[in-house]
Amino acid sequence: MRKDIQKATVIVVKIGTSALISADGTINYSVMQQLVFVIAELMRQKKQVILVSSGAVAIGRTQLGFAEAPLTVSQQKASAAVGQTLLIQAYQEAFDDYGKQVGQLLLTRDILDFSESRQTFAETIKQLLASGVVPIINENDAVSIDEVHQQRQFEDNDEVALNVSLLMKADLFIMLSDVEGLYSDNPVHNEDAELLQHLREVDSQLLASSSTQSGPYSRGGIHSKLKTADAALSAGLSMVLANGKEPTVIFNILKGEEVGTLFQK
Ligand code: GLU
Repeated sequence: MRKDIQKATVIVVKIGTSALISADGTINYSVMQQLVFVIAELMRQKKQVILVSSGAVAIGRTQLGFAEAPLTVSQQKASAAVGQTLLIQAYQEAFDDYGKQVGQLLLTRDILDFSESRQTFAETIKQLLASGVVPIINENDAVSIDEVHQQRQFEDNDEVALNVSLLMKADLFIMLSDVEGLYSDNPVHNEDAELLQHLREVDSQLLASSSTQSGPYSRGGIHSKLKTADAALSAGLSMVLANGKEPTVIFNILKGEEVGTLFQK
């Protein structure tokens, strides 16, 4: 039993493209509806939940018919612009069932780099939470991918969610992906690989050897999860990596059950 997790009040939930988007590149509505149900219930329990959701680029490229990978930078940005609209619209429709309003925040690195804009960003989230609104955050991919360097400002939304968790002094950061958690070895190749329940530190060798491979629409792979967990541990932030295909897993996590992998000192 993980005791102190139950006390978490400010919770950042990050859902990755691999969990939210179906193989055909459209929203997996059963995952989204379950996630929305969980968040609405947590809000009823007076928890403050901030959602960081990926999926925009995947949805947008499907909508625009950009089937061929890899996309050009311009195609990625156009996909993000279109996909973000569809993503937030779908969330609002799902939250309508619970009488909840969503508020969208799109983040760029420079917003965090300057203390004034960083504070403004934080204040907006605080006001949304105080007003009973669900803040939904994504990187502002439509403007943040650099045409010249072909690079994003954030490596991925794991990094975005980590930064949001630290800025908002979250008690808990729940990262929902398409894996059960961190394994002792790659479970695809080694059937004896065990799910690790609790890590107090991230081994540097494990980090260096971890795979950056991810699904057709997602980014970062397990390497990104470990890098983020390492940063969370250094900052004293508790993080749980769990499978987001069944978002009700959040209830189990908050009961202190040993699901997924807990990263905590
Ligand atoms: N911001 C991207 C999107 O919404 C996802 C980045 C990531 O997968 O981490 O499509």
